[in-house]
Amino acid sequence: MAKIFQMSQHMADLIAAGEVVERPASVVKELVENAVDAGAKAVTVEIKNGGMTYIRVTDDGCGIAPEDVPTAFLRHATSKLRTEEELAAIKTLGFRGEALAAICAVSRTEMFTRERGAAEGTFISLDGGKVVENTPAGCPEGTTIIIRDLFFNTPARLKFMKKDSSEGSAVSAAVVRTALSRPELSLRYIKDGKEEMHTPGDGSIESCIYAALGRDFSNTMLRACAADEHVSAEGYVSSPNGARGNRSHQFFFVNGRFVKSQLLQAALEQAYRNSLFSGRFPACVLYLKMNPASVDVNVHPAKTEVKFLSERQVFDAVYYAARAALGAEETLPELRLSGGAARQADVLPPRVLSAPAPQPPAPAGKREQESYGSGGGFKTSIAAGSLGGAKKYDFEQTRLVYNTAPPEAPPSRIAPAVETPEVSENPPYRIIGEAMSSYIIVERGESILLIDKHAAHERMLFDGLKRQGREIASQELLTPFIAKIGNEEAEALLSQSALLGELGFDIEPFGGGAVAVNCIPMDINVSDTAALLAEISEDIKIGRRPNSLGIRDEILASIACKAAVKAGCASDAFELRPLVEKVISGEVKYCPHGRPVTMELSKRTLDNNFRRT
Ligand code: ADP
Ligand code: MG
Repeated sequence: MAKIFQMSQHMADLIAAGEVVERPASVVKELVENAVDAGAKAVTVEIKNGGMTYIRVTDDGCGIAPEDVPTAFLRHATSKLRTEEELAAIKTLGFRGEALAAICAVSRTEMFTRERGAAEGTFISLDGGKVVENTPAGCPEGTTIIIRDLFFNTPARLKFMKKDSSEGSAVSAAVVRTALSRPELSLRYIKDGKEEMHTPGDGSIESCIYAALGRDFSNTMLRACAADEHVSAEGYVSSPNGARGNRSHQFFFVNGRFVKSQLLQAALEQAYRNSLFSGRFPACVLYLKMNPASVDVNVHPAKTEVKFLSERQVFDAVYYAARAALGAEETLPELRLSGGAARQADVLPPRVLSAPAPQPPAPAGKREQESYGSGGGFKTSIAAGSLGGAKKYDFEQTRLVYNTAPPEAPPSRIAPAVETPEVSENPPYRIIGEAMSSYIIVERGESILLIDKHAAHERMLFDGLKRQGREIASQELLTPFIAKIGNEEAEALLSQSALLGELGFDIEPFGGGAVAVNCIPMDINVSDTAALLAEISEDIKIGRRPNSLGIRDEILASIACKAAVKAGCASDAFELRPLVEKVISGEVKYCPHGRPVTMELSKRTLDNNFRRT
């Protein structure tokens, strides 16, 4: 590595100064970043007691020259940055020259370091930032740094530390992020004497994700990729059934740096509109690449927040990558049963589709108002098959693979909500019947499909309603229906009476926590009206939340749910056929909130389980 110099005051002022040693996790992050910047191929992180008593980071990077070792621990001493121009196009993870100084000031620090090819290395130890020892030493090429007794000399800071277990979890999360950020780096993580993680460092994103996040996570991931001439996004996004209760598994990397970004998060979640329950969040491991000059990393002390020069291009890269992944999973879901025999059916090859990319929907809502430069020009490439597809499956566990949502239907003609789809004369399938008045059983070729009747119908109606655009067919009631739903609810409904008017309702204030209903959508049963209005008032509240479908779609989903055939009510084969057609054609795959509507049981699975192979 280049010589280490202390910056001029002017340069130091340019750098967004900040606290780099908040807790053990931030120490680990900084030390591993230094190892990465030193060109390490293999790094070991070891912690004890949540990192409070012991942190060791060993790398096989370039090492530090003996005369530079004490300088490295001074404030604003860095080998990575000299000039303003360099700051604008920084390629290293570190650049402030603050980390080692800040860390050694609040701990007992030891470092062994030897430059590649040098005859001898250096040992330095510091106590609360003061050099205690600095001598030549025999040691391997690369650098080992050990931090003991963090905050031993700052009792006020020590008080703010959480339990060792919490600090340890934060360290683990930081290590996982760093491991994911560099598939070409082999990162080994030892916590209280136990190896917790070891990534292979073979450059493969798949094996890196598998090692860092585990099999269950990997199994739900779909390959995602999009690029234009300025930005590329590559990696994996979760199928809708792999969605999670929070955003902890949204990993975005910009030029190899883990970042938190509401823009990227919004782009990802936008791609899942109508295929996720509200309150469920997609997971992703996405690598964005762009010219370093088009992203400002100097806006946040921990360098985890960034500013993009062209937000629109970056948004599109993530959005189209995710859409391509979701649209690409065109295979029918398959149900695999547990059982020893099936173990022989070992590795499923990943499926590669040659189908054209789905037309991405027009970017919705807020984006259209934003004054981004013109977008477009995005090439998406599709490679379907879950990440787990290339891995060995664990057949002990029943694993369901579901389809992903289809691209949104184009807004077109005005059609009644309950359409009768064209039903083919000699269908290539046979409806065997219905189980529990809920699940349609269909034989098709070498497999059996199970269809959730209510969910499939709900989706079909929802799509139909959406197609009707602004004019949803309405029925006038002979006498107004008085719905007593409570003051707050009535207020919520009346606040959206114009929108409800478009959706086929005519409601008026009635007083006393009630509304008078003159008209309801065509497909709704009067007896369902009160329950539906209560739900809609809830939708209005939910629809204001950032990750909902939006008020309009939430209401449409409630209407579709009420209008759909109920699970538990028997239907005859004639009624079921249009539904089966829609599902088999691939038009209906998910209910409006992202629940899958079908699963498949293949002959091979059955044969395996009956040991017929
Ligand atoms: P920065 O990373 O912002 O430059 P640091 O305080 O983290 O600042 O590190 C100061 C300098 O010490 C680095 O610029 C680098 O030259 C050197 N250094 C730190 N850690 C290592 C390491 N593991 N291997 C080689 N050099 C290192
Ligand atoms: Mg650093």
